[in-house]
Amino acid sequence: MSVFIDFDQSVYPFPAKPARLSSDEKEFYRQKIKSLLVEKNAVIVAHYYTDPEIQALAEETGGCVADSLEMARFGAKHSASTLVVAGVKFMGETAKILSPEKQVLMPTLEAQCSLDIGCPEEEFIHFCDEHPDRTVVVYANTSAAVKARADWVVTSSIAVELIEHLDSLGEKIIWAPDRHLGRYVQQQTGADILCWQGACIVHDEFKTQSLEKMKALYPEAAVLVHPESPQAIVDLADAVGSTSQLIKAAQNLPNPLMIVATDKGIFYKMQQACPEKTLYIAPTAGEGATCRTCAHCPWMAMNGLKAIADALEGNSQDHQIHVSEILREKALRPLNKMLDFAESLK
Ligand code: SF4
Repeated sequence: MSVFIDFDQSVYPFPAKPARLSSDEKEFYRQKIKSLLVEKNAVIVAHYYTDPEIQALAEETGGCVADSLEMARFGAKHSASTLVVAGVKFMGETAKILSPEKQVLMPTLEAQCSLDIGCPEEEFIHFCDEHPDRTVVVYANTSAAVKARADWVVTSSIAVELIEHLDSLGEKIIWAPDRHLGRYVQQQTGADILCWQGACIVHDEFKTQSLEKMKALYPEAAVLVHPESPQAIVDLADAVGSTSQLIKAAQNLPNPLMIVATDKGIFYKMQQACPEKTLYIAPTAGEGATCRTCAHCPWMAMNGLKAIADALEGNSQDHQIHVSEILREKALRPLNKMLDFAESLK
């Protein structure tokens, strides 16, 4: 059985785009960041959806470029005393929860996520309290306060396996916040899931008819889809998976061309993994038309070079992640369960 609850979508305020830098300015900030990383014993932990220049800098300086599960693992294990998390705010909070002894900086604390915004603490707690018989599983894309109410945290890379496991124990589940991923996991596992109705503004914008036309135009292409996308897009996929799984699929599938339905920031690592293949982004409504994100998260795009240099210079508190100790302890438990479960799958 699966019950889906309607929940009003929040209105998402979009951030201003960071100012464009000239190539001289980019080089200036790159060099500045490199010396500040050494001086401050810091490392960059970047998400696949950040801009290519941020991912390249993280790699060049011994940091990591990864999905949210690997970012959490890398940050917790690394010996640096400061983590610069290039991503969105819940990723910085996760790093701080797992590594309270480290200073966690972000290029901007205004980098949000529509899934996090669309799952406010009070409403979510009320929702859970109305269903005390259900195990609460929340996606990593939530605030520390929402994680603190959960029994489990999960990322898309292990979501099917975790829900399968809980279902085998006879547990009924509350899933939050992404409705598309919740539906996908429910279909894959047959579990009894009550699903919060959040959505990712990037994945929600892929267009089915245009994708069908593109498939017809490029019959040799494979379609790779992140399960935060709507059902009709998932139905057209040759491979469905988390960001890391899509990169592996691009590498392993025999097709010379990939049509990819996720944030186009992933192309940096995907092209590295299969340089001989041609990558196209799946169609949205297109720049200047009705799409709001055009396959690039506006909050991920806030992670610019200047903002990273500002964070490392430490001129203001606007870059520091703080999580109260009470909240941290509560959110740590379901996060550690996720990390232990992920370890058990290896
Ligand atoms: S791409 Fe979607 S899920 Fe990822 S941070 Fe942006 S809004 Fe959130």
